[in-house]
Amino acid sequence: MASDSPARPSGKRQDTLDWAECFMAMAFLAAKRSKDPSTQVGACIVNEDNRIVGIGYNGFPKGCSDDEFPWSKTSDNPLETKYLYVCHAEVNAILNKNSTDVRNCTMYVALFPCNECAKIIIQSAIREVVYMSDKHAHKEHTIAAKRMFDAAGVRYTQYKPPHKQIVIDFTEIDWDSLNQVPATPKKDDTVTDEVDMRKLSLKERL
Ligand SMILES: [Zn+2]
Repeated sequence: MASDSPARPSGKRQDTLDWAECFMAMAFLAAKRSKDPSTQVGACIVNEDNRIVGIGYNGFPKGCSDDEFPWSKTSDNPLETKYLYVCHAEVNAILNKNSTDVRNCTMYVALFPCNECAKIIIQSAIREVVYMSDKHAHKEHTIAAKRMFDAAGVRYTQYKPPHKQIVIDFTEIDWDSLNQVPATPKKDDTVTDEVDMRKLSLKERL
């Protein structure tokens, strides 16, 4: 079988993250900011051009100190549990948006949204939710969320990551040993010979 456009290897990397994997990883990375000792959830909202327009994680509202408000799940006094105060990742991601709105966007989120978040997702016109875990599928708040998503036409799909892990290693790139041309002059250094030469040739041309 003849091919009219033979493959021309460009030498590009093949093992890159695809978009969905990248956005879900962003949600997981945001979750690492959460102070909640039991559940850390992150959410990442992406528009139709694959641009990130909002990221959030579960936490208390601004001004409500993580050191003063309770993170406990149980207490004789409901006022001393987290539930009355915590703002879920989905809501924070929507509120943190850097675009006019999140209409027709997709939300990547670690855990299936609860009914309260589902209401806000629907009202903000997000049209798709991609989630990893559905561990509360049997609970009323998830059943109600799905009922509302179904009625409102919000798609939801469980994400199966192609890799089990994405490792971020800050030492992977040894910036100090990378050669730069021209070398970046250090603040307290005199200008390098190389830069001098460039200046000189520029003057000559003028
Ligand atoms: Zn929620």
